[in-house]
Amino acid sequence: MSCPELAVLGGTPLFEKPVPVGQLYFPEWEKYEAAMRGIFQRQYYTNQGPLTQELEQRLQERLQVRHVICVVNATIGLMMAADALGLRGKVIVPAYTFIATAQSLSWTGSEPLFCDVDPITHQLDPECVERLLEEHGAEVSAILAVNLWGDACRQDRLAELARKYAVRLYYDSAHGFGCELDGKPLGGAGDLEVFSFHATKVLSAAEGGCICTNDDELAARLRNIRSSYGAGPARQVLRTSNGRMSEAQAAVALLSLESFDSILARNEAMFHAYRQGLEGIQGVRLLTPASVSKTNYQYVVCEIDERAFGLNRNELQQVLSAENVVARRYFYPGLHRFVPYADQFPDASARLPVTEYLCERVLQLPIGQMIDAEGAGRIAAAIRMAGACAESIRRKLREAA
Ligand SMILES: *Cc1c(COP(=O)(O)O)cnc(C)c1O
Repeated sequence: MSCPELAVLGGTPLFEKPVPVGQLYFPEWEKYEAAMRGIFQRQYYTNQGPLTQELEQRLQERLQVRHVICVVNATIGLMMAADALGLRGKVIVPAYTFIATAQSLSWTGSEPLFCDVDPITHQLDPECVERLLEEHGAEVSAILAVNLWGDACRQDRLAELARKYAVRLYYDSAHGFGCELDGKPLGGAGDLEVFSFHATKVLSAAEGGCICTNDDELAARLRNIRSSYGAGPARQVLRTSNGRMSEAQAAVALLSLESFDSILARNEAMFHAYRQGLEGIQGVRLLTPASVSKTNYQYVVCEIDERAFGLNRNELQQVLSAENVVARRYFYPGLHRFVPYADQFPDASARLPVTEYLCERVLQLPIGQMIDAEGAGRIAAAIRMAGACAESIRRKLREAA
């Protein structure tokens, strides 16, 4: 490849159609049709139907947890979780995560307390958690940790802190389905964990999610909250909601689960193609999930160092966009810069240097069903070329601006 071949410099785009970042699993049409025919024959759309029950059963086995409560999406799952745990006051969350993590607290009447993340792994930093626990004392009722990017946080340290300070600990594991820590699937840690089955995630129900817990009482409360006292043993709860997963969602999730091992194998091949292709490019760091014993390759995450690479993250994003590669800068800006938190914590940026740093440098590249290993290799080659042609690209981008 040479400079003029880059689409931003007048060449033909690498891909004819935009290639997105998300996993976007679609089942084989015949299988989907058969699953929908079943729903029509049973004339059963929703309310803890046979497919939802089967899905919960399978997930319990796969994740080795006592209870899986399937829900309509992970955002509602996180809100239900905060309510079922009876949270109040402040809850420690990373500033570097998806907005829904913090918003689930805002919806349920507690307040996020933003914590910084580790510069190497991007996971919630236990040192920062402890500082906040010391500083805010009894105002803190829980730690909501996020298992990010197909990796996991320092769960052992967080569990110690939760014990020492007598606070709840639960996990947003939206990125973590299929990952293992010390050979054990994510799902059973803390008081509970919440997975997302959104279309962009590695297990898909189109929209969906689940809450996992080994606590029988918590599970009973969650089932009462989920469907306004619908399923399972009755418990009085403060608030109910509608977090039901429909049979159509469960059908897609079951098909996705059936293909899960091959989905992961494809992801792994793509990740290796990126690793090979990006090897040795100055200023491009590819994150490798290193805390887990098995990852799901949910995301391909790069850090772009402008000085070494020659272009900054936003410029590289434009270069890729011209190639029809829709690279994303997830989690921009940090949560502390969103309304209403920006007003509540005006001095937050100074306390969140790593979050600030990552928000300027991180870029996600496509992986999942819309691309293959060969495509990943071509994207990596275009990134290498962009670094080599940085000066002409800068000139071109300035002219266009
Ligand atoms: C996707 C995601 C969510 C929300 O999941 P939905 O199922 O889309 O509601 C929450 N937290 C993180 C970190 C996510 O990536």
